[in-house]
Amino acid sequence: MASGERFDTRAVEEYSDWEQGDVVTPIHLSSTYRMPGIDPEMSLEDVDPDAGEFLYGRLSNPTRHAVEKQLADLENGEMGFAFASGTAAIATAIFAVVEEGDHIIAFDDLYAGTRRMLEQLFEARLGFDVTFVDAREPAHVAEAITDDTSLLWMETPTNPMIHLCDIGAISQIAAENDAILGVDNTFATPYFQKPLELGADVVAHSTTKYMNGHSDGVGGALVTDDPHMAESIEFNQQVGLGNQMPPFDAYLLSRGLKTMGVRMRQHQENTMELAQYLDDHDCVTDVYYPGLESHPQSELASEQMDGYSGVLSFELTGDIEAAQRFLNTIETMNLAVSLGGVETLVNHPATMTHEPLGEKRRAELGITDSLLRISVGIEDIRDLKDDFERGFQALETATTP
Ligand SMILES: *Cc1c(COP(=O)(O)O)cnc(C)c1O
Repeated sequence: MASGERFDTRAVEEYSDWEQGDVVTPIHLSSTYRMPGIDPEMSLEDVDPDAGEFLYGRLSNPTRHAVEKQLADLENGEMGFAFASGTAAIATAIFAVVEEGDHIIAFDDLYAGTRRMLEQLFEARLGFDVTFVDAREPAHVAEAITDDTSLLWMETPTNPMIHLCDIGAISQIAAENDAILGVDNTFATPYFQKPLELGADVVAHSTTKYMNGHSDGVGGALVTDDPHMAESIEFNQQVGLGNQMPPFDAYLLSRGLKTMGVRMRQHQENTMELAQYLDDHDCVTDVYYPGLESHPQSELASEQMDGYSGVLSFELTGDIEAAQRFLNTIETMNLAVSLGGVETLVNHPATMTHEPLGEKRRAELGITDSLLRISVGIEDIRDLKDDFERGFQALETATTP
């Protein structure tokens, strides 16, 4: 069990508790466990993984249990849960809160998959009332509250527009109206932002991103301090939906979490330098990064975050052809969806991550055809800048007659 005080120390501590004295969490693949005998006095609910008791792999697994403790600890929360994907984690959190007839308020610039889940599953199929608001202004959240509002679902910073919302202010609105506040902390990570400490009731992650950190595992997590929420999440995870993280992915996640501090520091250092370089470049009209003073919410960012993480977006001068020319020229960076890995990924939201939203919704959100999102890796920043120069030169030669 973790005893270190600070993030980097706690991250490398061992969270499983085996007699062999392993210094890393072993991968337990067994789907079922031998019982010592039958006990008419004992309820299956009393099986306690913390006491080394396991019954069946869907209910609990030693590798998953260790990483769940590690996740909770790094978010400074009480109870952690690991899922097959970020999407599974988010769906489980929503199912843990809502009841028939409930109203949900969500940030209008959510991860595109979460927005589709809310619209196409919770609203269209299951009949929940969902309102999307520009939550950069907490007043917009307060105005949308109804008697039936049970859940506020936020994300900060969002992508690709890098909008922020004030977790503290929105948590007050939630508390005053008996609603649960869920915050997707995938982009900031607990290294830079701790939503539970700012007043959120539950924190969600796509661990596929920074938490695993090496682009080799899809997974998700929830962390909460609220025992009712935890009970409901646990029921859904084990019984209702059965969407747990498999042991091998739990092992990779645990391994990734150990280097999270070092990785995040390098991601942020590279991103800051790149943001400044892009901000000064003639081929770029706008740069969106909360670490830049020009970001309209830079003050909120410095108040609620300890750093600005590793994702920025920028607007190329030109149109879709300019974006194509740039993307055909780069060599070091990878043109790929996803983010948070050690390697730099470039995403063209209009044709990739945000294509399913449709042209109209993209225009409302400000996602143009020349917008690019960069998940800045931990490579040598000089090589990344050289790659950008190559791309920009291709634009300049194309525009000079
Ligand atoms: C990727 C992502 C998700 C979805 O996670 P999956 O692991 O792909 O299911 C949710 N929220 C955010 C912010 C993400 O970046």
